[in-house]
Amino acid sequence: MQKSLYQIKRDILDVGRRTYDRGYVASNDGNISARIDDKKVLITPTGVSKGFMKAEDLVVVDYDGKVLSQGKRPSSEVFMHLRIYKERPDINSVCHAHPIYATGHAVAGMSLEKCVLPEVIIVLGGIPLVEYGEPGTDKFFEPILKFLKDHDAFLLANHGALTIGTDVLNAYHKMETLEHFAHISYVAQQLGNINVLPKPDVQALMEARSRYGVPSTATCQTCDSPGGESCEIYQGASALNDQKANLNIHPNGNSDVDREKLVRMVTEAVMKKLG
Ligand SMILES: [Zn+2]
Repeated sequence: MQKSLYQIKRDILDVGRRTYDRGYVASNDGNISARIDDKKVLITPTGVSKGFMKAEDLVVVDYDGKVLSQGKRPSSEVFMHLRIYKERPDINSVCHAHPIYATGHAVAGMSLEKCVLPEVIIVLGGIPLVEYGEPGTDKFFEPILKFLKDHDAFLLANHGALTIGTDVLNAYHKMETLEHFAHISYVAQQLGNINVLPKPDVQALMEARSRYGVPSTATCQTCDSPGGESCEIYQGASALNDQKANLNIHPNGNSDVDREKLVRMVTEAVMKKLG
């Protein structure tokens, strides 16, 4: 059922507050929009905190970006939102924020494109890391376009995160799922290991997506890469493990450095006895 304009406004204010309260944005960052109908889009204003918006702050624009409401000016990313609606007729809401763990991965150049958690595979599928583009310009959203057809969640290099959905809450929930996954990935990296799901399990989850009404095309690029047996390529984690080995931190206690030390200690003890 189509939501009323009143309800769409309430949803954007509610999601704006949650986005701010959860620390997904600082200051006046981030932007949220929703399709009103085939002529108009509602979008958050520029220069207003997402945690403290009023209904009259929200801006109505047409699909060319022309402002149709009185008062505030639209977000500087309005053209990215409009382009997404043009490219994805199935999508009715767009959320952009800078959640700490997701953005941390995007800044570190570490993709979340790996099949680890069942819920994430079902809800988001693959999460591409999109190359950097200057905010507020066409360059910001041009790199997103090549992933747009098959994905609903994106990491934006050196910037933040973007999610899209069938309504405002659906797009926002994908942001929460993305950030939760990024946080879990961060913790797993600190613990020193990320086990990916075997390919048959990933395939079963991908097939289950249709039962949840998710387009089955949004797959993980790593799994889909030619010759890719499973989603096991996670260079970020292995680089971190190498670093930990250098720092003499051994989660498994069986690294070469530990073994060398052990051999030396045993040799010294034996030599002492013999001596
Ligand atoms: Zn941003």
